[in-house]
Amino acid sequence: MQFDIKKIVRPNIEILKAYSSAKDEYTGEANVLLDANENSLGSPTTKWYNRYPDPYQTKLKEKLAFIKKIEAAQVFLGNGSDECIDILFRTFCVPGKDNIIICPPTYPMYEVNASINNIDIQSAPLLPNYQLNVAHIEQLVNDNTKIIWICSPNNPTGNSLDRIDIETILNHFNGLVVVDEAYINFSKQKSFAQSLIDYPNLVVLQTLSKAWGLAGIRLGMAFASKEIVAYMNKVKAPYNINIVTQELALTALEEVGQVNDMIMHLVDMRIALAAVIESMPYVEKVYPSDTNFLLVKIPNARGLYQYLLTKGIVVRDRSSLENCADSLRITVGNEQENTQLVDAMAAWIDLSFPDGAV
Ligand SMILES: *Cc1c(COP(=O)(O)O)cnc(C)c1O
Repeated sequence: MQFDIKKIVRPNIEILKAYSSAKDEYTGEANVLLDANENSLGSPTTKWYNRYPDPYQTKLKEKLAFIKKIEAAQVFLGNGSDECIDILFRTFCVPGKDNIIICPPTYPMYEVNASINNIDIQSAPLLPNYQLNVAHIEQLVNDNTKIIWICSPNNPTGNSLDRIDIETILNHFNGLVVVDEAYINFSKQKSFAQSLIDYPNLVVLQTLSKAWGLAGIRLGMAFASKEIVAYMNKVKAPYNINIVTQELALTALEEVGQVNDMIMHLVDMRIALAAVIESMPYVEKVYPSDTNFLLVKIPNARGLYQYLLTKGIVVRDRSSLENCADSLRITVGNEQENTQLVDAMAAWIDLSFPDGAV
């Protein structure tokens, strides 16, 4: 393995002199702050937000590093993991030249961001059992392949990907391997965040949007080597995480117990919901899930999707994704929402069948 981050980073980012914010240029205890053109009189809010936030989110990173048992310099924070994904493209992939590998059906943002950044997309679809096709991935790799995107547990299929397969890719590929663990808190699998020491080419993505119940504050995390994080810091906007988010996240991270209770409750409800849905006569399959959602295969998925809409219930039709025909992705709701969903599904009669019922 001859991984060399200098060969992976975009040459213009390697030589980039990053923007130096007002906050970068002094260290120590200044109390007359006339350097950033802020409004020194205050804000029209009870609590003042007239000062720019800490560009490096030092306190928040220290807390996350403590929780994840890594160093603060190995943490990058984004406005959702979606920003981390975009920054990875802009730091490591040369537009019009480099390519990435995705394994569909998977989270569509890898593809969207690749297209925005004019990066060629190579596709190694998951096998019929929704596991990685390692041989296909290895065939696709060429000198311009910068990132392999792996989502585990995978969205929308719900399953965790085989750890040995991911390790094989990490060991054989000289570019970056991003493991998106947005749903790791619902899974029995071990996070790759504790394996950074073994793999200089590993980037782990996590988020406060799912298990932590904080999708509204937008906080995503990338864990990687210090060198990778330092390059990403050069590319991000100086104040990408606002003060409100930094403060709320710091408070929320104290509540690990409460979050673990919610995770256990959601997993129990997922198991119960899967059993009920699986018992419905028209349901072909409920895929095993390591997440807070279920992928359900139904002959007329579109018909059920539209019927549920008439009952005010929105699920996600994933039928258009590769290898995902006739499948709805259903998030586990609260008790009342799950009951409404089950009642509506039980009442549905599939009119696309000749005899009007199944
Ligand atoms: C929801 C989701 C994200 C997005 O997370 P944000 O932090 O809210 O941007 C990332 N990856 C996967 C696989 C997701 O399902």
